[in-house]
Amino acid sequence: MKTGLFLQAVFPDDQGFDSRCQFFCSSISPQGLNNMLFSNQKNCILCDSTSTEDFCKPCTAHLPWLLQQHCPVCLWPTPDGQICGACLQKPPAYTRTVAALSYTFPVDALIQALKYQANLAIAPILARLIIKKLHDTPYKPDLLVPMPLHPARLRERGFNQAMELSRVISRQMNIPILTNGCQRTKNTPPQARLPWKARRSNIRNAFECTMTLSGKHVAIVDDVMTTGTTLNELAIILRRQGAAEISNWIVARTLPETNLLDSPH
Ligand SMILES: [Zn+2]
Ligand SMILES: [Zn+2]
Repeated sequence: MKTGLFLQAVFPDDQGFDSRCQFFCSSISPQGLNNMLFSNQKNCILCDSTSTEDFCKPCTAHLPWLLQQHCPVCLWPTPDGQICGACLQKPPAYTRTVAALSYTFPVDALIQALKYQANLAIAPILARLIIKKLHDTPYKPDLLVPMPLHPARLRERGFNQAMELSRVISRQMNIPILTNGCQRTKNTPPQARLPWKARRSNIRNAFECTMTLSGKHVAIVDDVMTTGTTLNELAIILRRQGAAEISNWIVARTLPETNLLDSPH
């Protein structure tokens, strides 16, 4: 292993340490990390080979892109890309979801490094992956709404990763960000720690929005979509404020390889 730096950055509690992590850590050189953080030189952040992009061509090809057919509303895999049974039966408040990747290695490690070690240099890299995915999207929202963090969590972390992603998307796509219009008023335990059925009651009434959004198309920006429960709760509030259309723009979606028996939301 060339360095323990990234190992420590990705898994501060030694949680999730496994062979994937060893590969990832051994493939990040101190020089590559240094370049990523402090210079304009773009070495591939995964393998450190020279690259004009964030990821070299072979690493780009191996990223877990969402290529299969899926429900356009929640991204659950469906034959021929039709709307899934859960969305037909109980349509979510959001209109559609776009995610660049599946929440699996190495994207999970990158997102964890951004969130839990404040490795902010990773935010624009992840934002560019969303933008790439949106390349031929035929619509443009009026506003971006970064998924709000509760003020206590924001103080603890020092930044909101969804806001960091939104800043880059806003600049590159020329879409304003709705700042301070929506707040998280309930400091809930992280959804990932709860059984799926407890997630809805955990997040219910967690948001407040004061802005009038009559007829607007808003895009909620977030890093990970798991069940969609949190996104739906925010979308319900945005609808109440008059939003006509709501898109979710997400870096990575967790998919059924790990949750085969669970329903999407
Ligand atoms: Zn590479
Ligand atoms: Zn669906």
